[in-house]
Amino acid sequence: MKSYLLSILILSLSLSNASAQSSDGTWYRGNTHTHSLWSDGNDFPEMITEWYLQNGYDFMALSDHNILARGDKWMALDAVKKRQKGEGPGAMEKYLKRYAGTDWIETRDNKGTQEVRLKKLEEYRSLFEKRGKFLIIEAEEISAGFGNKPIHINALNIQEVLPAIKGSSVRDVMSRNLQAISKQEKETGEPILAHLNHPNFRWAITAEDLAHVIEEKFFEVYNGHPGIGHLGDETRPGDEEIWDIANTIRIAELKQAPLLGVATDDSHNYHGGHNSPGRGWIMVRAKRLDPKSLIAAMRKGDFYASSGAYLDEISWNKKTREITIEIQADGESTFTAELIGTRKNYQANADKGKTGIGEILASKKGRSITFAVPKDVLYARVTITSSAAHSNPSFDGQKKQAWTQPVGWK
Ligand SMILES: [Zn+2]
Ligand SMILES: [Zn+2]
Repeated sequence: MKSYLLSILILSLSLSNASAQSSDGTWYRGNTHTHSLWSDGNDFPEMITEWYLQNGYDFMALSDHNILARGDKWMALDAVKKRQKGEGPGAMEKYLKRYAGTDWIETRDNKGTQEVRLKKLEEYRSLFEKRGKFLIIEAEEISAGFGNKPIHINALNIQEVLPAIKGSSVRDVMSRNLQAISKQEKETGEPILAHLNHPNFRWAITAEDLAHVIEEKFFEVYNGHPGIGHLGDETRPGDEEIWDIANTIRIAELKQAPLLGVATDDSHNYHGGHNSPGRGWIMVRAKRLDPKSLIAAMRKGDFYASSGAYLDEISWNKKTREITIEIQADGESTFTAELIGTRKNYQANADKGKTGIGEILASKKGRSITFAVPKDVLYARVTITSSAAHSNPSFDGQKKQAWTQPVGWK
């Protein structure tokens, strides 16, 4: 009874969610990559979930490293405190304040060590979830590696924890872990969506690796963690270029479908001025707010990635080869949309240090944009960049952006 009353209180605090009706379904906003005290994040799962609920999200996935929020897990208060970065009230102080006057929080003295029990998903889910309004998707960041290279894959709507699997190369590790996810999907009959995370983190995964592991269907074109090399460096491509290189190889050489791009927070820090939630998310146009509908829409490519720009409409007309985008107004912000793709004869165009991959085919300003996709491209996609700065940037000079999925490749 108590948790029922608590859930009413929490839902009444939530702001209006971001979903908007559209002809083909509803746009639902979600973050699929989040860490809590269950692994290396620095806040309690209920506190994090409530942040997303109150900040205009329709769904979220807590995706801790190699663990699900199941079973009893006690954590020393000292260890909670050690996670804190920066100044200000810590996780435990905020947690105690939030749930003051209830018996929600459990602490104990374990032979002189003060401990708090981390709540299981099945315990806190009902505080926040409301049919059609807010959904929590169970997830794991399967955190494998090859040598010192991290190979992290998020599995959304996972049904049982999957241990990270080793292998004989970066590609082999990617492939084996993706196959384990597929196997669980087949065995349980529940759709499980995998996305490969932060390829440039410690420069672990190249565009060629991403291209050749064809079990991989989704990857992070933007991840809000500041240490993941989003922009690349002098010699290595950033995440957007990686996307174009991988998709060019997939379509031109391997005759495979292109990778689709997600944006995520990969949030770890929730206190002290280095707060990471709210940097990147996806907007999925689905029939209903449930894992099955969201994953089905994503597999059809009916979603976009965002770090701040919202789209009311994206439509692709196969016959006329036109892609039309309606960008939502955002104060005085102006928007630039770039049509990016690779021409079929890209190798012939490669000169003067240019690869011919991921060319800017056209650029337009405004909020109602239509691009004609040239016939001679392998695929095309659109990146929208606002004149407005990101409110909580993960790199210097970051603007609000949105990324649509590749079209024109079939
Ligand atoms: Zn990771
Ligand atoms: Zn992560």
